[in-house]
Amino acid sequence: MERNRKILMVCHCILNSNSKVEGLSQYKGMFKEVIDIINEEDIGIIQLPCPETIVYGIRRWGHVKEQFDTLFYRESCREMIKPIVNQVKSYIDAGYEILGVLGIDGSPSCGVNLTCSGDWRGELSTNNNLEEMIKDIKYIEGSGVFIEELQKYFMEYGIKIPFIAIDERNVYDSLSNIRKFIANK
Ligand code: SF4
Repeated sequence: MERNRKILMVCHCILNSNSKVEGLSQYKGMFKEVIDIINEEDIGIIQLPCPETIVYGIRRWGHVKEQFDTLFYRESCREMIKPIVNQVKSYIDAGYEILGVLGIDGSPSCGVNLTCSGDWRGELSTNNNLEEMIKDIKYIEGSGVFIEELQKYFMEYGIKIPFIAIDERNVYDSLSNIRKFIANK
């Protein structure tokens, strides 16, 4: 039976834009252009869970990393990650190649190189500086909470997998980097 034993792990919303905070997606259903690149090389996909939708639901507001950086959210991420790491370990032990993890730069959960930061808190309806507070969001170097926990989990089991990302601010700019990454595998 045919198989090439190569797998890429992708953040959930690459295959399901409906999981993103409403108003943020730049594609309608799945990020077809990325899937086409992966498919052209006959690579399989493991779709990671969407931690924000699982914990906070689809009606959540956009958040910054500081709001998700709680013990509860980190532990919830680890629970979601556990079965994924079990699968990955089994594939690696059996000689399969996990090419990498494709994250979403800018996300407070799934950013790899960049995440979003700000001093966001409090009751929206009584906040007289709401616009200023929203504008105060910054993209800073570092990973989102879910990716940090995924990296920690891999480290605990001695699993070495590279991480790359799509830039959430303009997803289409990231396509050539993804193509190059996959071509070099
Ligand atoms: S970036 Fe992560 S948390 Fe945000 S919608 Fe995508 S999968 Fe969910």
